[in-house]
Amino acid sequence: MWAERITEALQARRDAEGWRYRRCVEQNSVREITLDGQRYRHFSGNDYLGLSQHPAVIAAWQQGAAQAGAGAGASAYVTGYSRYHAELEQQLAGWLGYSRALLFISGFAANQAIVHLLAQKQDRIVADKLAHASLLDAASHSPATLRRFAHNQPAGLQKLLAQPGAGATLVVTEGVFSMDGDSAPLAEIAAATRAADGWLLVDDAHGIGVSGEQGRGSCWQQQVKPELLVVTFGKGFGVSGAALLCDDATADYVEQFSRHLIYSTAMPPAQCCALLAALQQVQQGDALRARLRANISRFRAGAAQLPWSLPASESAIQPLIVGENAAALALSQRLAQAGCWVSAIRPPTVPPGTARLRITLTAAHEPEDIDALLEALYDAAG
Ligand SMILES: *Cc1c(COP(=O)(O)O)cnc(C)c1O
Repeated sequence: MWAERITEALQARRDAEGWRYRRCVEQNSVREITLDGQRYRHFSGNDYLGLSQHPAVIAAWQQGAAQAGAGAGASAYVTGYSRYHAELEQQLAGWLGYSRALLFISGFAANQAIVHLLAQKQDRIVADKLAHASLLDAASHSPATLRRFAHNQPAGLQKLLAQPGAGATLVVTEGVFSMDGDSAPLAEIAAATRAADGWLLVDDAHGIGVSGEQGRGSCWQQQVKPELLVVTFGKGFGVSGAALLCDDATADYVEQFSRHLIYSTAMPPAQCCALLAALQQVQQGDALRARLRANISRFRAGAAQLPWSLPASESAIQPLIVGENAAALALSQRLAQAGCWVSAIRPPTVPPGTARLRITLTAAHEPEDIDALLEALYDAAG
């Protein structure tokens, strides 16, 4: 029974050109990637500022490990919480203008935890249609009702919120959308949420470190303070992990009741040290952000004449919508032959019929990298 089910699911995935591969990467540069001994210009990571390779971040992790060990050794409630965790939480809260920050091992865990903790039977979760799988999964597995509004359409959200609800309302969106690169109209979404007496959760995985003054992210940039802000550290921070920003009572509630925190080993203290160093680089990162913006402009100016649709994205994420899975894979392979590594993203990560090349730009790219990518794209377009 189990074996047959597994075989069928695998065959269906193969038939749909949807098979996903993991490749071993030799990674010691942000600009380039080496796969199977072959070097490529690298346009598929989320390390937008190049901090995963920053000497200060690496040194902080090494020194942290030398001082505090390789791992936390226990849950934060037993003996896994160190002064490095406390320091990082305090700095994040102060920097982002919240009373409290709580660390999670990943953005996926943070989203699951907060939705799981809040949502009860009478409640409704109203989410952008393109919100991340970690948010939508948590909502659909919760006892609350999940409703989805058309992507970045506050009018659609208002319509759903106008329907009477028996319980509490949680509105969920991203700051910068991971597969489209566009930004949510946060002021309008926050106003609609407030009018419905709900709370807003913004997942700013792709905005934190990159947009807003000092890299404080999409909410700061749009002058919106959601009740719940999730920031992740695997992208612009170049490390891993996440934090939930909220008020005191909510933080106490999460701390007391979150099974994701209580029954899970705390983040290694050395990782907190690396994140403190990454935070400092982000805060001082205006030059990096300016380089990234220049690369984005250069790419968009050059890509305007390409035959594939390029959504209106001002972020580091520049998707070329190709359509069919096989066509996206073929284009990705063409680019690889030309020395550019760009992964094809297929359903169910994106809606059916919108398979795409998710091009990501970083502060580490040189103008010649962008030009080489554009040239390869024009060649492939014929
Ligand atoms: C990557 C991502 C996550 C998951 O974060 P991890 O720390 O990688 O688990 C959550 N939300 C969004 C929007 C993301 O892009």
